[in-house]
Amino acid sequence: MPVRIGFYICHCGINIAHKVRVQEVADFVRGLKNVVVSRDYKFMCSDPGQEMIETDIRTHDLNRVVVASCSPRLHEKTFQDACRRAGLNPYLFQMASVREQVSWVTADEDEATAKAKTLAAGAINRVNFHQMLETRTVDVHPDVMVVGGGIAGMQAALDIGNAGLTVYLVERQTTVGGHMLQFDKTFPTLDCAACIGTPKMVEVAQNPNIRLLTYSEVSEVSGYVGNYNVTVTRHPRYIKEGVCTGCGECAKVCPVALPSEWDEGLSRRKAIFRAFPQAVPITYTIDKKDRAPCTTTCPAGINVQATSNSSARVNTVKRLP
Ligand SMILES: Cc1cc2nc3c(=O)[nH]c(=O)nc-3n(C[C@H](O)[C@H](O)[C@H](O)COP(=O)(O)OP(=O)(O)OC[C@H]3O[C@@H](n4cnc5c(N)ncnc54)[C@H](O)[C@@H]3O)c2cc1C
Ligand code: SF4
Ligand code: SF4
Repeated sequence: MPVRIGFYICHCGINIAHKVRVQEVADFVRGLKNVVVSRDYKFMCSDPGQEMIETDIRTHDLNRVVVASCSPRLHEKTFQDACRRAGLNPYLFQMASVREQVSWVTADEDEATAKAKTLAAGAINRVNFHQMLETRTVDVHPDVMVVGGGIAGMQAALDIGNAGLTVYLVERQTTVGGHMLQFDKTFPTLDCAACIGTPKMVEVAQNPNIRLLTYSEVSEVSGYVGNYNVTVTRHPRYIKEGVCTGCGECAKVCPVALPSEWDEGLSRRKAIFRAFPQAVPITYTIDKKDRAPCTTTCPAGINVQATSNSSARVNTVKRLP
């Protein structure tokens, strides 16, 4: 069946028409291959604008439609629905953005008109190749993964969790909080960062819909939108979450002191540590760089410390559904 295209350029009141000579664009498009109808109209998204498309589809046997107006994000569905109502498959529609991408961002009228013609011609060329598509419904896995437990990730996890979905919140540090928890006061209101951040940290840990995976990183993602398989590598803390009370007695006797990452090296922490007092989870972590010095230097290679067995360094991998 020969391609028969209907083209419509919108004035958007004066939003487009004050910079783009819309009638000139419509005249230009009328001369392009397979274009049967080419019009300009004040408000294409209005009822009369949509009815114009529907009437043209029926009376001119149009099998493709192009609208040059705002952005597809705003009105693509509006015009696809108009096509559908007139019996045309909605995927035989194409939109060109001559407002956001042209009239709002181009100072010169000649330049804006030329740009609108180019975008319109591109859309006309493209729509020639469109094929009818059918939408279908597929099952999606409703769980959500949020990567990064800073203030943004925590709030996202809380919003989604409170909406009733299961959220996996993956944070590579030993605690959630992110940069904000490193500050004392925040510009411009001089709010106390910890006063805003710590209640969210606690809420995240206590929300029954949030599975908090700290000291963890995404190591593999496969699948597709709605059905991802994600592998998360959980770095070993060597201390059990839920068992450690966070009393800190261990850190008092630990002889190894290292620069504190959380304090940007301005203070020191022990090899068994918690990033900062309000860290969530409260669980301490042993920062094992390698085996204990006594074991690495032993000429007989004897593992004098049971806890420093290097096999314990093997990461545990949690496969998420
Ligand atoms: C020095 C400084 C001063 C600032 N002062 C102010 C201020 O006064 N007022 C203000 O409003 N804003 C300020 N900001 C900005 C503010 O801190 C940030 O906009 C805000 O903290 C960003 O939050 P976020 O959650 O997006 O990111 P972040 O706080 O950076 O959190 C990201 C989290 O994701 C984790 N992460 C990163 N990659 C991975 C990964 N691959 N896997 C798992 N986890 C990962 C990180 O460990 C971190 O916990 C300042 C920023 C800085 C650096
Ligand atoms: S279709 Fe878009 S550009 Fe045209 S009047 Fe409506 S909002 Fe404005
Ligand atoms: S690991 Fe340290 S902080 Fe945790 S319970 Fe034992 S002594 Fe207390």
